[in-house]
Amino acid sequence: MKKSTKQADPAATDKNENGITFDQILALPKTDLHCHLDGSVRISTIIDLAEKQGVTLPDKDPKKLEKFLIMEDNCESLEQYINAFEITLSVMQTSEALEQVSYELACDAADENVKYLEVRFSPILHTRRRLKPAEILDAVVEGLSRAGRERDIRTGVIICGIRHIQPDISLRLAELACAYKDRGVVGFDLAGVEENYPAKEHLDAFQLVLDNNINCTLHAGEAFGPESIAQAIHRCGAHRIGHGTNLRKDGDLLNYVNDHRIPLEICVSSNLHTKGVTRLEDHPLRLYFDYGLRVTINTDNRLMSNTTVTKELYLCAKQFDFTLDDIKDIIVAGFKSSFQSYRDKVRMLRKWLPDLGRYPVYPRPLP
Ligand SMILES: [Zn+2]
Repeated sequence: MKKSTKQADPAATDKNENGITFDQILALPKTDLHCHLDGSVRISTIIDLAEKQGVTLPDKDPKKLEKFLIMEDNCESLEQYINAFEITLSVMQTSEALEQVSYELACDAADENVKYLEVRFSPILHTRRRLKPAEILDAVVEGLSRAGRERDIRTGVIICGIRHIQPDISLRLAELACAYKDRGVVGFDLAGVEENYPAKEHLDAFQLVLDNNINCTLHAGEAFGPESIAQAIHRCGAHRIGHGTNLRKDGDLLNYVNDHRIPLEICVSSNLHTKGVTRLEDHPLRLYFDYGLRVTINTDNRLMSNTTVTKELYLCAKQFDFTLDDIKDIIVAGFKSSFQSYRDKVRMLRKWLPDLGRYPVYPRPLP
C-alpha cells in the first residue's frame, strides 16, 4: 500500500521500526541545500502580500487557497504544479515582498533547527514590475541576512538559470552570480524543463561561473535519463546534482558519481509530486545510500510539498527503514556538501558534529 507523504502533524511519539521519533529528528542540527524561494512561501504571507499589492488570488480563504498551492500525493498534472508557482510569483515582484519572503523562509528553517540553508531562485522571474536583477538579489540577500542576525542559521543564495528560457538570459544571470560572489551568492544552478532543453545549450553561463571559481549544481536526471546527469557533470562542471533519480539507470556513471563524491540533492516528496518517481517505494534513495553515494535530504518546495527537512528525514526513516545513525550520516553529508568555503564547513562541522553524536579527530581545528 502506498504510504502518504502528507505528514501534517506527525505524532511526536510515532516511531518507525527503528524507534525514531519525529521530535528526535526535529532536535538535530540540519541543512537544506535544495530549497526554492518561490516554492517556499507561507500561505498567510501570500494572502497579505496580494492584499497589499492588489493582486487577485484564486481564493482569499487560506484553506481554499491551499488546494491550489499544496500538491496531493496523487497530483495528476504538472500543470497544477506550475500554476502554484504562478500564484507565489504573482506576489513576489517587489523588493519588500522578496525581503519578507526570504526572511520568513530562513526563520521557518531555523525553527526546525536547520543551521545551514541554501536558497535558490531565478531573478528573471521577478522582473514583472520592472525590478532590476540586482535589486531583486539585494532584497533576497537582505532578508536572509536579517534572519541570520536574529537566528542561529547561516544561509547562501544559489542563482538559477532556466533551461527553457534563452541561454543568453542564463549568461546574464551567471554574470550576476559572479558579481555577488562572496556577497551572498554561493552557487549557480540550472532549473526548468529538462526534456528537450539540454543543459549544454547554457554552456556559456557555466563556463563563466566556473572561470570565476563559483560552485554549480544542476537539476538533472529527474525528468530525463542519466545522459542529462552526465552532461551536467562532464559538460557543465556540476559539483552537485539536483535529484538524480535516474542515475540508477547507468551503473558506470553511478560509480563515477560515487567515486568523485558528487553529492545528490534528494527531495523525496517533490520527486513524487513532479512524477520523478511514481511510487515512494520505487525511490532510489535507499539503493544510493547503501551503495555509498553521498546523498543529502532537502525540501525543494516547502509550500507545494507541504514539507520541512524534518518531515523529509522522518518520511525517509519510515519508508526506507533508516536508523537514527543513518539519518545522522545523511545530515553530516549535508553539512559536508554545502557550497560554503572548506574553512567555513570545518568550523560548522566542529560546531554541530557533537550534537549529531560524532566526535571525529578530523577535521582538526583550523589555525
Ligand atoms: Zn528543485
